[in-house]
Parts: sequence; structure tokens; C-alpha cells
Amino acid sequence: MYIYNSASRKKEEFVPNTEGKVKMYTCGPTVYHYAHIGNLRTYIMEDVLEKYLRFSGYDVTRVMNITDVGHLTSDGDTGDDKMLKGAKREHKTVMEIAKFYTDAFFDDCKKLNIKTPDVVEPATHCIDEFIKVISTLIEKGYAYEAGGNIYFDTSKLDKYYIFNDFTEEDLAVGVREGVEADDNKRNKADFVLWFTKSKFEDQELKWDSPWGIGYPGWHIECSCISMKHLGEYLDIHCGGIDNQFPHHTNEIAQSEAYIGHKWCNYWFHVHHLNTDDGKMSKSKGEFLTVSLLEEKGYDPLVYRFFCLQSHYRKNLVFSWENLDNAAEAYKKLVARIVPLLGEKDVKPDDAKLGVLLNGFREAMDGDLNTAQAVTAVYDVLKSDADNATKLGAIKALDSVLSLGLVEAAEKQAEKNSASADDLPEEIKELAEKRAAARKAKDFALADELRKQITDMGYVVEETRQGTVIKKA
Ligand code: AMP
Ligand code: ZN
Repeated sequence: MYIYNSASRKKEEFVPNTEGKVKMYTCGPTVYHYAHIGNLRTYIMEDVLEKYLRFSGYDVTRVMNITDVGHLTSDGDTGDDKMLKGAKREHKTVMEIAKFYTDAFFDDCKKLNIKTPDVVEPATHCIDEFIKVISTLIEKGYAYEAGGNIYFDTSKLDKYYIFNDFTEEDLAVGVREGVEADDNKRNKADFVLWFTKSKFEDQELKWDSPWGIGYPGWHIECSCISMKHLGEYLDIHCGGIDNQFPHHTNEIAQSEAYIGHKWCNYWFHVHHLNTDDGKMSKSKGEFLTVSLLEEKGYDPLVYRFFCLQSHYRKNLVFSWENLDNAAEAYKKLVARIVPLLGEKDVKPDDAKLGVLLNGFREAMDGDLNTAQAVTAVYDVLKSDADNATKLGAIKALDSVLSLGLVEAAEKQAEKNSASADDLPEEIKELAEKRAAARKAKDFALADELRKQITDMGYVVEETRQGTVIKKA
């Protein structure tokens, strides 16, 4: 499999450190509010990556953190504390907010067929690990105390910027008006590992540490949680593109300074979902959540389908019109699977099935090209394989794409037969006679029978799934 590695800025063959095993880490949500569907685009694409690695035979261990402390609104060390902001908004404690929105996040994931990672660890469970790593960084000379806080000293590294070529001047421009620069920092790019002197006097969650009572900075959690569960060598680290800097850059700095060697080999970043008027937001305009999609009558899996129709390294524009198009295409695709269900219990031809999956594999091996993988689903349907083999191939593809295609087709088939069951006996009889006439190629008789059915107030439609008769 070839995958684009943001660290080398090239497509590279994916080769894990240990043959057959993959250690995968994902930055989890900051649980101060619902996830918007932009956040969930990232988790959908990461889910496809994980499932495709498993499909390709790897034994994957995937770890995700839950950010319930330390994340400030700026992603750096300025702005408000996101968790505190959420708690104030809802007149609840930080831990109540964290529990509520963690549960809400996993509810959304379930609706989108996103598998829960093998290990999910909230930052607040790992304070001892953070203290241990920060203490070692101080001992090794990579961190210093200033004004009561502990900072990582980026000047101690040969190379700090990994994903882009920032300079100190660019960073100075990044300090926006109204956001105070931190004079304790020796270098502009230095970042906080541990706060004891905080501007948030009402900080709810604080822990004792060798440097005084305080709380961790945001970045340290991902390094520590990853190393705690996956050890010193990580194969692949994922997140949204905005996480490249400063978050992932800082993760690399502190992890490699701590362990003394290269930490992670591949960096997988998902580009953003935007609205047509710009960036997706939790505060401005319509707050796009999975619940909102459901309220408007969309199946969440239609949103997953919409995401898979474009490449993860391209920005994706969300609009209701685009989602309507995806809904229509999804419905048509499901309708084409319904006729295959008749062969549910027939054994597929394994050799043919393997060949049918080639197009899918090729698409996914080429930097997770899910748009092309969706096209491969249509190619299976168009192929001349028998229905049982086609159905087997669709099931295999959908174990990765997770669009619920067979389940949706089963529901549709049930609906079709329920409406057929509602037909009066004489209509059913006429329909059977008409089917027999068509089979015998007696089209004059078939037409006559159709007329009798329509005269009795019913319509006859020929669809891909066969004849459907409904009340007019
Ligand atoms: P957060 O809960 O803010 O920590 O973000 C959770 C994940 O969503 C991170 O991996 C972000 O990089 C990602 N993310 C944030 N905004 C977007 C967006 N508009 N589209 C796609 N991913 C996003
Ligand atoms: Zn992270």
C-alpha cells in the first residue's frame, strides 16, 4: 500500500516496524461540545484507513486520546481553556461536560459506522505519565521552568518544523491582536508542558506536581498516551490537517527528545470539510452535527458516503445540495444490491470474488483513494459475475467502506415485499399471470393484464429490482 506521508511530503510504501503488525495513533476529540461533521470527516477517513489495513491482513492496534484538559482555543498557549468555556456555557462541571460530550461523540461514531479504537484514554487519567515525561525532559535539558510554568525549549532540537517551513517571523505574525505573547518563552516556538501559573483563576482540574499545583499543556497528552500503549515506535499517526502545527510538530519534538530516537514513521492528515462560505465552526452559523442531519431526514451513512466520494487530501465543500446528490446516489446504489439478495445463501465463487476485488484494492493501495473505491463497487455490480459472487464482493468491500450497503438493501427488500403483501388477492393474481405472460413472451396478453391492473387503481413499474405494483 502507498500512502502520502506528510512528514516526507511524498507517497511512500507503507511498511510497519514489525511485520504484520501496525501501531496506529489518532488524536481524539476535545470534549467541550458536540463534534461537527467536519471533525467527523477526519474520523471517517481514519476509520477507513484502519479497516483497510486490517483488510490487508495487518494486526492493527489503534489508540485514541480524549482531550478533557489543557486545550486552549488558539491550539497554542493562548486563548481560553476550551473545557472551562464549555462548562461555563452549560453551568456544569468540567467532568460533567467531558462525560456528556464523550458519550455524544461515540454515539455519533456509531451512527457513522466508525469503529471505536482498541484503546481510548482520557488525558485526565494519565497525569502521572505526563509528570514522568516532563521530569525527564527537564533532566535532559529539553525543558525549563519560567514564570512558574514548564516550557519545551525548541532551540535544543536540530529540526523543529516537520510539516512546513515556518520561521520565527511567521510565528510572530501568528500572534494575533488581542492575544498576549508569553514573555516567559525563551524562543517564540517554545510551548507549555505544564501550567502552574495560569490566567484561569477558576481552573477546576488541578494536580500536584514537582513544580507546584497545576495542569498539563495540550500536546503532552498525545505523546504520553501513545507511548503508554504503543511503546517507543509508532507506525502511523493520524489527525486533521490543522493538527500538523503546532500540535503534531510539538508531539514529535517532545516524544523524540524523551526517547532519543525517531518516534513515528508515517503521518496521515485529513483535509478539512468547509461550508461554501468558509470554515466549519461550532460557534457561527448553522452548527452542523450528525443530529442535525438526522433531524433533516438524512441517514448518517449518506454523509459517510458523501465523504468517501472524495479524496482525503482534498478540501471538501459541504452543502445541502451536495448531500442531496449523495443521498440520491446512495439510494440508487442500494436499489441495485436488492436483486442480489435472492442468492444470499448461495456460495460465491472465491476465485472470481478475488478478481472482483482487484479494482478496490488498487484504489485503496493508491493512497486510500476512496472515490475510486466507490467506483469499484459499481464495477462489481456491472460485472458478469453471478449474483452470489457479486454479493460476496460487495460485503467484502463494505467491511472497509462501512456504508451499510447490504443492511440497507435488506431493509429495502423488506419494504418492497411488505408493500407487495398489502396488495389485494385479485391484483396479486393478475400480476402473477402478467409475469407468466411476459416470461412466455406473450406481450399482448401482458399488456392486457397490465391494463386490467391499472383499471383497478394500481400502477405497474418495472425497476431494476423487478416489477413493483403500488396503489395509484
Ligand atoms: P478537536 O475536537 O477540535 O480536537 O478536533 C477533532 C479532530 O477534527 C482533529 O483531528 C481536527 O484536526 C479535526 N478537524 C477540525 N476541524 C475540521 C474540519 N473542518 N474538517 C475536518 N477535520 C477537522
Ligand atoms: Zn493529539
